[in-house]
Amino acid sequence: MESNKTSSEFNFLEAALVKRTELFKNCVNIVVGKGNPNAGIMFVGEAPGRNEDEQGLPFVGAAGKNLDKLLDNVGLSLNDIYVANILKCRPPENRDPLPGEIKAHTPWLMKQIRDIKPKVVCSLGNYATKFFLALGDVDKMKDMPGITSVHGKVQEIEIEGMKIKLIPLFHPAAIIYNRVKLTPLWEEDMEIVKREIGK
Ligand code: URA
Repeated sequence: MESNKTSSEFNFLEAALVKRTELFKNCVNIVVGKGNPNAGIMFVGEAPGRNEDEQGLPFVGAAGKNLDKLLDNVGLSLNDIYVANILKCRPPENRDPLPGEIKAHTPWLMKQIRDIKPKVVCSLGNYATKFFLALGDVDKMKDMPGITSVHGKVQEIEIEGMKIKLIPLFHPAAIIYNRVKLTPLWEEDMEIVKREIGK
């Protein structure tokens, strides 16, 4: 597959900010999102991994396979959600995102939320959750509570004048390593999500 990095679709301001980062230079593809852009639920993960980078799609590796399974368990599919990431390009060796990278890549995420207008945003795991709880202020992310204490809690937040109903969820990759404990918690949390969107 040809890389999408030079696609004329990505000629807007938020994409230009991403293209200025080192991550963009080193990645194979920009990973924008997948799923139903008219869905009531938007999932936000952390960053593309190797498989996602190669295919230009989020959540297609091991975490993605688990996400498919977790959705199926609660009677949902990719048609019920849209999924994107904090970072649009893969960090080398899957290292943690740097503050400057989050600052440069999240305007695109905020544009996606503005366009999709989901009823509920579900942050997957610590990075995405802390970004939203810090109301987009990257320097405050380190002071935010972790996913273990906030998962499944509905939070009404406002970022850049946009009201967001946030429900943090455990990351599907973390669930792989702790299936017995985290799968039932994820399923309980998804019942709350489904209730919020009237499903
Ligand atoms: N983990 C993420 O957070 N995002 C992906 O796209 C894949 C794995």
